[in-house]
Amino acid sequence: MPPHSKTRSIGIVGAGPGGLAAAMLLAQAGADVTIYESKDRLGGRSATLTQDSERGRFRFDMGPTFFLYPRVLADIFAACGRVLEDEVELMRLDPQYHLIFEAGGEMHATPDLERMAAEIARLNPHDALALPRFMAENRTKLAAFRPVLENAFNSMRDYLRPDVLRSLRLLRPHRTVDTDLASHFDDERVRLAFSFQSKYLGMSPFRCPSLFTILSFMEYEFGVFHPKGGTGAVMAAMADVASDLGIKIRLSEPVETILFEGRRAVGVRTARGDIRHDAMVVNADFADAMTKLVPDRLRRRWSDRRIAGKKFSCSTFMLYLGLDGASDDIAHHTIYLSKDYRRNVAEIEAGEAPSDPSFYVQNACVTDPDLAPRGCSTLYVLVPVGNRHGEGVDWANEQARYRAMTLKRLERIGLRDVERRIVTEKMLTPVGWERDMSIHRGATFNLAHSLNQMLHRRPRNRFEDLDGLYLVGGGTHPGSGLPVIFESARITARLMAEDLGMDPHWSAPSKMALPDYEPALAEPA
Ligand SMILES: Cc1cc2nc3c(=O)[nH]c(=O)nc-3n(C[C@H](O)[C@H](O)[C@H](O)COP(=O)(O)OP(=O)(O)OC[C@H]3O[C@@H](n4cnc5c(N)ncnc54)[C@H](O)[C@@H]3O)c2cc1C
Repeated sequence: MPPHSKTRSIGIVGAGPGGLAAAMLLAQAGADVTIYESKDRLGGRSATLTQDSERGRFRFDMGPTFFLYPRVLADIFAACGRVLEDEVELMRLDPQYHLIFEAGGEMHATPDLERMAAEIARLNPHDALALPRFMAENRTKLAAFRPVLENAFNSMRDYLRPDVLRSLRLLRPHRTVDTDLASHFDDERVRLAFSFQSKYLGMSPFRCPSLFTILSFMEYEFGVFHPKGGTGAVMAAMADVASDLGIKIRLSEPVETILFEGRRAVGVRTARGDIRHDAMVVNADFADAMTKLVPDRLRRRWSDRRIAGKKFSCSTFMLYLGLDGASDDIAHHTIYLSKDYRRNVAEIEAGEAPSDPSFYVQNACVTDPDLAPRGCSTLYVLVPVGNRHGEGVDWANEQARYRAMTLKRLERIGLRDVERRIVTEKMLTPVGWERDMSIHRGATFNLAHSLNQMLHRRPRNRFEDLDGLYLVGGGTHPGSGLPVIFESARITARLMAEDLGMDPHWSAPSKMALPDYEPALAEPA
């Protein structure tokens, strides 16, 4: 389609990372973009949480704390004439995280592969020899899958592209992450060290498709970063660019319904009235937004009944604690993996809260002390639990007990006197994610990433049920997790530019100017 002379007006529901990134690219392509956000803050699940006390202000990331593969976002900044690293300081962590196994042993995971092999050898000398092969195999896998991750899947025809056909041969649908890793590593603990990352997708390594061994590979190959000020600082930097590009962000203005003429989305209704747009983008949680903002009678493939039959990710039980004093001997990221990890996972899949849970702790002040007032520190605790489905857990009754159990369990990683040190506190259960954060079933990582809910079987970027309606964020292709969410923004913006006759200069990822940067290693504070 030739470039259109009229400026296109685009409305976006939600100022999460996907919504902000899509807005940047669309505005850069010449569209007039308005973002509607129900909260009074930006960033969605990636927002900054603040807690004020007499000691001062504590700042936490609400969700993402592992900032991986900044390249995609750096490309998006470059497309808008900015350099990501000039806007946010990205600190590469080494060690990237500390793993503690209830079954015995620990590992300081490092991107220095020689040191990493020595760490593995402490658990199992034979497995250490397999590290180079694991890395080489996954390097090939990622290269093969790039076209799959970077392009839209609108129909079966998309599978016939030669680059996609080549990559699908590597998909090994009969293998899970765990069985794939078993071809490299014998020791269950070593396999866990390279498979717990399936939790980023809210999935069990015993079910997660083998493709996703690329997640741990990417940490070692490209790094685990801490953005100074937290992931929320990245959201703030995106909002700055957005405002320079003339994007209007209307905070505290929930979309009540998306307006349709026939099957075409034509705008939104908010408390301020009806506003018309040429096209709409939904960044809000897919299942929540569809069931609340789009009438069921208009949806064919994604009717309420069909959505009810889909698999969703796990949820999380969260504690955000402002603490008196620092915990200098606790790593920036610590992951405690319980002995009976398989039972943990089975309990989560059954919608329960595990009795002896694995958990994750972020002690960000060891790298970024400004997140807490002087003499204090922040502690972020995440326990994967079942999402809200069926009977499930009665969190109103359970939460106090689960909090106490979780605080007690922190002793396992050397945090002995946390309760006594608490200055500020916020607890979030699956009910809170569902009710306060508008997340369907409180499934924090969206629709599960099983093969039958991926690629063209995931809700499509150009939403297949309706015209003029597009999706961006963790609920669409390629999936949940910041790098792929930013990729979804590129895919969606590209499709919209095509459909609306806009002529962006960033038309294909490979044509984007790539910033040449090598983020510094973080110095412990
Ligand atoms: C606890 C947790 C930990 C995570 N850890 C990581 C990690 O370490 N690394 C990583 O890469 N990813 C992580 N993720 C996954 C993912 O990166 C984040 O969830 C990410 O924020 C999802 O982005 P999104 O674009 O899908 O939109 P969301 O963050 O879901 O934002 C959607 C926005 O839409 C708004 N909205 C909803 N309904 C309406 C409405 N009706 N009108 C207007 N606005 C509306 C919401 O308020 C929200 O601001 C984590 C997620 C969670 C929850």
